[in-house]
Amino acid sequence: MAGQTVIVSGLNPAAILQSTIGGATPAPAAENDHTRKVVPLSRDALQDFMVSIITQKLQDEKQPFYVLDLGEVVSLMDQWNAGLPNIRPFYAVKCNPEPSFLSMLSAMGSNFDCASRAEIEYVLSLGISPDRIVFANPCKPESDIIFAAKVGVNLTTFDSEDEVYKIRKHHPKCELLLRIKPMDDGNARCPMGPKYGALPEEVEPLLRTAQAARLTVSGVSFHIGSGDADSKAYLGAIAAAKGVFETAARFGMSKMTVLDIGGGFTSGHQFTTASAAVRSALEQHFHDEQELTIIAEPGRFFAETAFTLATTIIGKRVRGELREYWINDGLYGSMNCVLYDHATVNATPLACMSNRSNLNCGGSKTFPSTVFGPTCDALDTVLRDYQLPELQSACSSSPVSHKKSKDLLIGFALN
Ligand SMILES: *Cc1c(COP(=O)(O)O)cnc(C)c1O
Repeated sequence: MAGQTVIVSGLNPAAILQSTIGGATPAPAAENDHTRKVVPLSRDALQDFMVSIITQKLQDEKQPFYVLDLGEVVSLMDQWNAGLPNIRPFYAVKCNPEPSFLSMLSAMGSNFDCASRAEIEYVLSLGISPDRIVFANPCKPESDIIFAAKVGVNLTTFDSEDEVYKIRKHHPKCELLLRIKPMDDGNARCPMGPKYGALPEEVEPLLRTAQAARLTVSGVSFHIGSGDADSKAYLGAIAAAKGVFETAARFGMSKMTVLDIGGGFTSGHQFTTASAAVRSALEQHFHDEQELTIIAEPGRFFAETAFTLATTIIGKRVRGELREYWINDGLYGSMNCVLYDHATVNATPLACMSNRSNLNCGGSKTFPSTVFGPTCDALDTVLRDYQLPELQSACSSSPVSHKKSKDLLIGFALN
């Protein structure tokens, strides 16, 4: 591995700079050196690194940029393998399609969940083979199905008869996973149930339709919902999936061999609980299934904590105690997760450039602050009533780093 981090411009994913911590060049690893361990950056190292990017002007003048911590990606994969050792992740590309990130996941054995032709093209362009992709969108335009057939993506999901007819017409070799609706959406911030998943009473007719169309239904998928979903929802969903396996067997269909437990995972202690729930449900319902392949579609699990965004303060207004700042990224850019995903954002100042031993101004007096995005829409407000020390605008080069927080989607960080 060349370096531990990759810096990616927040708004222009093409502008990727590769660098190492503090800009130092690492000693080249010997050919067969497997001893170098990649570890996540500490909070301080991450901040130092961000400051070094800014002070060395490695990034386009004051433009927002992301730091992708590859060490964190390695650590997340370790966490995954420890909690769900026999479940292959198909990373949900929609959560963050950054190419270095996808390549890293691929190198560590992850496969990919694509939701559109564009995502499939993207993954294939990285040299990843089509048999490592599940086209996990239950309702696809015909043109996308034709494309999947052409490039050899042969596994997809469905939850309607209409989809069966489209697939029979354009991609009859494609294997299907019946997406079911978990009865319990786990109180997720972003429930999936209202949009996707067959109801219990729809399972039999859908299997019959697929059978009549001579399509292979190779298994079942579900998604319990994203964002702090209650892991108990996996229990009911896995039990329901087993019921579908049994129904298919009763109908004399070819034996189902794939169980896809979807996404909804959050790294850290929540993953410990969720993975234990999944293991126990699998033990209870699927221990007697021979030749079963279990897959999952984690998205936020890998994308949330691996990225940290740095932005620049471009304007400031003082109203009594209140400090108001404008930054050069917002809800119409990298932080659309606040709008679409009910995410919350944590910010850390990277302002005290003159005092490198106290970059985040720890101990300074703080003020209730508002942080606005750059557009003229008042909705474009990133933080309200947030305590921050006194910061200056860009003329004095004081960026704000948005720290890792588990609530976030897409490349915007937190903690
Ligand atoms: C969004 C999505 C995912 C990823 O969900 P997370 O909760 O981010 O893990 C997985 N599968 C499908 C079909 C999705 O739409």
